[in-house]
Amino acid sequence: MADHKKRFERIVQKLKDNGHKITPQRMAIVKILVNSEGHPSVENIHAHLKKDFPTMSLATVYRNIVLIKSLGEVLELGFPDGSNRYDGNNPYPHPHVICIKCKKIVDPDLESLDEMKKEVALETKFKILNHRLDFFGICSNCMEQQD
Ligand code: ZN
Ligand code: MN
Repeated sequence: MADHKKRFERIVQKLKDNGHKITPQRMAIVKILVNSEGHPSVENIHAHLKKDFPTMSLATVYRNIVLIKSLGEVLELGFPDGSNRYDGNNPYPHPHVICIKCKKIVDPDLESLDEMKKEVALETKFKILNHRLDFFGICSNCMEQQD
């Protein structure tokens, strides 16, 4: 479980260190990013902020996510249909499990991941820098609703 408060402070500090203003809007976006366990989309984040910041545009949210991504503090999960999702709790590469029905995304705790990385490096003689590992399936909620 990620430490939301620590993540929040780290991202705000990094924004400051890089000369970016800390506006209430920006803080609110960071807060949602680090408090969401469900890998929100820009639209999700925007919808969450509508109440407190009615004039904030989708483009503003998007620009802020791009900025935080450029600081290496949010992981972008890109999908071919453009429905990108974001993980502000763990910005480092990690595997995901994705429900093809409701688009729920969770972080599995894979003990074999380190072994897998070693195996790939050994077999290909590559120096592995990064990885993308997505599992697609149907979540237990969606399975129940199936007949
Ligand atoms: Zn589902
Ligand atoms: Mn994740």
